[in-house]
Amino acid sequence: MIDIEYLRKNFCATPDDPRFYLHEPFNLDGHTICTDGAVFVRVGLDVKFTACANEKPVPIIRRLYSALVIDESIFTAIPTLPIRHKICKYCDREGCETCNNLGYFLDQRRVKCGAAEISNEYANKIATLFKCQIILPIENDKPIYFRFDGGDGFLMPMIPFIDTFANKRR
Ligand SMILES: [Zn+2]
Repeated sequence: MIDIEYLRKNFCATPDDPRFYLHEPFNLDGHTICTDGAVFVRVGLDVKFTACANEKPVPIIRRLYSALVIDESIFTAIPTLPIRHKICKYCDREGCETCNNLGYFLDQRRVKCGAAEISNEYANKIATLFKCQIILPIENDKPIYFRFDGGDGFLMPMIPFIDTFANKRR
């Protein structure tokens, strides 16, 4: 049911990420985890993976799950927003180093999600998980819990915009 290859491709860190220990799924506390540091997806144990090669993510993941309180009445669909492509102005669609030879950039935007804002790139990926639901956050800076048929996880919200100009005038 759970396609671990799909999860690995979409939720693990990309090969150019210096955090090599996030490139592959790893096993923790009887589950298999895919994460790039901004999103954690947890599914049933897949024994072909091993423990994380670096201890760093372990306490973070354990803390998130130990603090989790689930109220069945408050799950809702994740808000999404289509991702547009922005033509690369350095090469005008030809493909160059700046745009990874794509000729365009993904136009990442913020999606309102309860009290927080999330990246549309992550929102759209999470929305592809079967029967995905989230707990709408009431704070703007805490990881957001989601679950789907076969697993669950957390998504970090985007850093809130700080109006420095307005703050200075105060
Ligand atoms: Zn380019």
